[in-house]
Amino acid sequence: AHYLQRIEKADGKLNSFISVTAEQALKHAEIADNARAAGTAGPLVGIPLALKDIFCTRDVKTSCGSKMLDNFIAPYNATVVEKLNAAGTISLGKTNMDEFAMGSSNENSYYGPVKNPWDLTAVPGGSSGGSAAAVAAGLVPAAMGTDTGGSIRQPAAFCGITGLKPTYGRVSRFGIIAYASSLDQAGPMARSAEDCAHLLGVIAGHDGRDSTSVTRGVPDYVESLNAPLSGLKIGLPKEYFGDGLDPDVEKAVREAVKVYESLGATVREVSLPHTHFAIPAYYVIAPAEASSNLSRYDGVRFGHRCDNPHDLIDLYTRSRAEGFGEEVKRRILIGTHTLSEGFFDAYYTKAQKVRRLIRQDFLDAFEDVDVLMGPASPTPAFDLGAKKDPVSMYLQDIYTIAVNLAGIPGISVPAGFSNGRPVGLQILGTHFAEAQLLNVAHQFQ
Ligand code: GLN
Repeated sequence: AHYLQRIEKADGKLNSFISVTAEQALKHAEIADNARAAGTAGPLVGIPLALKDIFCTRDVKTSCGSKMLDNFIAPYNATVVEKLNAAGTISLGKTNMDEFAMGSSNENSYYGPVKNPWDLTAVPGGSSGGSAAAVAAGLVPAAMGTDTGGSIRQPAAFCGITGLKPTYGRVSRFGIIAYASSLDQAGPMARSAEDCAHLLGVIAGHDGRDSTSVTRGVPDYVESLNAPLSGLKIGLPKEYFGDGLDPDVEKAVREAVKVYESLGATVREVSLPHTHFAIPAYYVIAPAEASSNLSRYDGVRFGHRCDNPHDLIDLYTRSRAEGFGEEVKRRILIGTHTLSEGFFDAYYTKAQKVRRLIRQDFLDAFEDVDVLMGPASPTPAFDLGAKKDPVSMYLQDIYTIAVNLAGIPGISVPAGFSNGRPVGLQILGTHFAEAQLLNVAHQFQ
C-alpha cells in the first residue's frame, strides 16, 4: 500500500508505469500474508516490484511500449514472472520502455518519455527506463528489465541504481517479447547488488520452454557476497577510456577503481582490440533478428489491426504502418535489407564473424584478469530531446553492446555524480561469473 501510494503521488511527473495493477497487487498481498501465517511463504514473500512491459503477464496488458500491442492482454506468464510469483513477490505494475526495447533514452515509447527522477529535464536511459526511474524514485524497491545491448545497465547508470545483465542463457526468455533473440537477457534492477543477488537467485535457471537457457545449477548469489577481494585482478580496457568519454565519468570510474585497490585488488590495463566494431556489428545483427521477430505482428491473430482492410496485403500493410513507431520501422527496414539475398553475406554473415572476434577479445582478457571495469555509458544522462539523430543515439551504446555480442554478464553500479546526474561504473565478468560480479559490486556499496 505504501508503494502504491508513492506511485500515485509521484508517477504523474515521471511516467515510469504503463499499467499499475493495484487490485491484483492487493489480492496477492493477502495471499502472501496467508502464506506467511501458514509457514509456506517463498523467500521473497511480500516484496513489491515492477515488471518492464516486455514480460508477458497473464490477464494484464503487455504492450512492449508499442501501439501494436496496446490492446494485448497476455494469456500466459513469462517464466521470470512465474518464478517471481512463486517466490512471493508482488508486482505493482508494468513499466514504461522504448518500443520493442529499441532505444537508449525511453523516448521511443508509444506512451511518452519517462523523466529521470534526479533531474526531470534528463532522460532516464533506455530501453528499461521506466524500471530504472521507478526504482530510483522509490516507487518500488526493485524492478525487472531486459538487456539486448545495454538496456538494463545504461538506465541503471543514468538513474543511480544497480542493474545486472546476466550471462546469455542464465535466465529463461520464455514469455519475454523478443527483440533480438541471440542477445536478449532479463535481469534485476534494484537499489543494491545485494537486492539484485536475491532476485537473480529466484529468476535464474534452466527452463524447458527456452532451448537457449542453460542446464547449469544456480549458485547461492547471496552467500558469496562478502568473499574477500584481496588478489582480485581488475582489467581496465584501454578502448573504454578513449575519445568521447566525459571527463567527470572517467574521474568517477577511476576513483571507484582506487577503492578496489584499497580493498586489495590489483589493476592493469588490457585491450579489447575489436571494440570499435561492436556498434556496427550490433546494428546489423539486432535489426536483422528484430525484422524476423517482428514479422509476427500482422494484424491477424493479436495486436493492432487496421479498420476495414480490403484485402490481405492491405491488412498487413496498414496494420503495421499504423502499429509500429518510427524507430521500429527503421530497424525492420535495415534488418530486412541486410537479410535479403545479395546482401546477406556482405552484412549479416560478416557481422557474425566480427561478433566472434569481439567475444574472443573478452575471453583473451579473462585469461589475465578476473573482472573488467569501465564506464557504463560515455556520458551521464542527456537532456530529453537532445539526440534527434539515430546514429548519435546508437553511439551511446559503445560500452554496453559488445557484452551482449559476447554473451557475458555485466553490472552497473552507482559511482558518483556529474552536475547532479548519476554516473555508473560497469563491471564485467566471464560467462556465468554473476556471483563474482555481485560480490565485487556489493563491496563498493
Ligand atoms: N540501445 C540499444 C538498442 O537500441 C539496446 C537496447 C536494449 O538493450 N534493448 O538496440
